[in-house]
Amino acid sequence: ILKVSNLKKTYSSGSKELTVLEDINFEIQEKETFSIVGPSGSGKTTLLGLCAGLDQPDSGEIELCGTNLQQLDEDERAFLRNKKVGFVFQDFQLIPTLTALENVAVPLELQGDPRAEEISRELLSKVGLKDRFDHYPSQLSGGEKQRVAVARAFSNRPSILFADEPTGNLDEETGQKVVELLMDLNNAAGTTLVIVTHDLELAQKTQRILRLKGGRILKTEAV
Ligand code: ATP
Repeated sequence: ILKVSNLKKTYSSGSKELTVLEDINFEIQEKETFSIVGPSGSGKTTLLGLCAGLDQPDSGEIELCGTNLQQLDEDERAFLRNKKVGFVFQDFQLIPTLTALENVAVPLELQGDPRAEEISRELLSKVGLKDRFDHYPSQLSGGEKQRVAVARAFSNRPSILFADEPTGNLDEETGQKVVELLMDLNNAAGTTLVIVTHDLELAQKTQRILRLKGGRILKTEAV
């Protein structure tokens, strides 16, 4: 479902050029659970964004859901993301002026889904937020916000879900609930999971682990 070949990414700050990813090659199969680990600054978030089509590499190729991302223009990439891809951001990225229900429903409404509200109610109930529909993000705990973000990421029934540190800001118990939720959704819907994490316990729950260091792959191992 995802194939990354010879990927390279640099950032330029001022006159300096910083290579953050180089010589990256790996493949992820449909329905697989996969984690990306590595020290802070090793390029994990950058890699996740590239794989999800949120950002563009300097060179190399990414094939996502049977399509070469480099051959698409930005509109086509956005279309593919809306149809097939879910993304849970490290800082949730909920819209502060919308309620929990609206945060999940609005993207679906924008896509013209007539069942947007119904689906959103179901998803929020599934993540244990039945009594939080009308709460604004500022009225939710970290774990609750993370669960809204997961519900939103699943609302378009993605084939593949990218999650950046899904347990990063949560206490252990809440983190575990979020992980269970992701694993349940993988089991029930066959959604491929790609998870960036510092949490080795979480990584051990996925089928394979990719270790990044200094922008290069140290190794990819089966759990
Ligand atoms: P962490 O675990 O701390 O979140 P990470 O492994 O996810 O780190 P990235 O966020 O991918 O690492 O960052 C990789 C490197 O690229 C870092 O050195 C970072 O400072 C740099 N970097 C990230 N985004 C940008 C940007 N937009 N412009 C310039 N440099 C950037």
